[in-house]
Amino acid sequence: DVRGAADPGGLSQSQRLYRRGWRVFPDGTTRVTVERQPEPIYIVRGEGAHLIDADGRRFLDLNNNFTTLIHGHGFAPMVEAVATALSNGTCFANPTESEIALAELIAGRIPSVERIRFVNSGTEAVMFAIKAARAFTGRPAIARFEGAYHGAYDWAEAGQANGPAQWGVAQMPRAAPTYRGMPQCVADNVVLCRFNDLAETERQLSAAAGRLACVLIDPMPSRAGLLHPDERFLGMLAGLADKHGILIVADEVLNLRQGYHGACARYGMTPDVIAMGKIIGGGFAIGAVGGRADVMRVFSANGGKPALPQGGTFSANPISMIAGRVAMEAMTRDQFDRLETMGDAVRQGLHGAIAHHRARFSVSGVASLFRIHPRPRIPTDYRQAYLGEADKALMERLNRHFLQAGIILPKGAAACLSTAMTPEDIAHIIETFAAFLAASACTHG
Ligand code: PLP
Repeated sequence: DVRGAADPGGLSQSQRLYRRGWRVFPDGTTRVTVERQPEPIYIVRGEGAHLIDADGRRFLDLNNNFTTLIHGHGFAPMVEAVATALSNGTCFANPTESEIALAELIAGRIPSVERIRFVNSGTEAVMFAIKAARAFTGRPAIARFEGAYHGAYDWAEAGQANGPAQWGVAQMPRAAPTYRGMPQCVADNVVLCRFNDLAETERQLSAAAGRLACVLIDPMPSRAGLLHPDERFLGMLAGLADKHGILIVADEVLNLRQGYHGACARYGMTPDVIAMGKIIGGGFAIGAVGGRADVMRVFSANGGKPALPQGGTFSANPISMIAGRVAMEAMTRDQFDRLETMGDAVRQGLHGAIAHHRARFSVSGVASLFRIHPRPRIPTDYRQAYLGEADKALMERLNRHFLQAGIILPKGAAACLSTAMTPEDIAHIIETFAAFLAASACTHG
């Protein structure tokens, strides 16, 4: 038990655990995405909107496990349902009713989902969505957008970590050195476009049309800057896809939390395939690929010859299915509206503080999502949102300031609200940012 135990070396419990982690993990923890300040904050418990760390500190959690926990931690109806489910068995090679119930719920809400398959992560969902597009069209290549995060499938990663060194004219990603581990043949089959760049994207897609299976797009890519999509840009993509028989694969793994009908519906997009994850598992591991019935038929085992084999030892395990259904059922239209109102209040409050201090910051996002940029205007693409060393140091200071105020603010990714948060929490976020701007006004005003 790490709680409260005084360390003879004067280290905090998180520091002690991090040292221990280095003996078994290549960089001290088992996920590269874990934030370090310089050590990670080790958690012993989550309680609603808050996290309690190994040193007994309490934080308002704006990360919510990378936007997964739409109800915060330990959502009581979910805990109760899962506790009952646990004693009935955690995974079977046979199907259960629970998978049908969650599938029905999602198909009933998300307009483009006629058929669905469950997997275990967003990465897998995107991977199968891409594979489905390739199987359906018989074409090898995909197009995707610079800086966007779509999980750890080679095809989905190309161009994700580009920096100024790779920013040339229209490009195919290069496999080395940024993409160590990615074969050049994969990089050769990814067309990398700039989000919201209408003319250039149109030119690139038209040039590659005959070999493009799909355009992979997150309607509001978080890692790339929580970028707001330009409606004309989305319209151009839809028109071009239609003309050339290219599928639109929407990655809603994160942005499904934008509303009762998901993100695409919000922007008038009608994707052919959707990758989902995060909130639909209620806090347990999940992913799902859904879409048009004719496209989804590529997964069909009819005739004993699946065009595209997809299984998964833990896919559709009853715990994820039950937790997901309970969490999603509780996300009624009213709850989405409530989250949207709280999100509006946060963004307005942050904007108000920026205006008051005449600070060179902006805030992007909709619904329960927001991201603070050290930019006077909201970036429209990844290159504008990209943080150089000085910006990174500034955002690091912001993150530390929030931590000192008892708030975990994600770095380089979207922050999000949960239904467990209160108007007091919102006020606390705004006040904390305003205090940071007041303190740094002389250097950054
Ligand atoms: N797609 C998007 C937009 C994501 O934000 C993420 C994860 O953050 C993924 C895919 C990958 O999901 P997972 O981490 O569950 O594999």
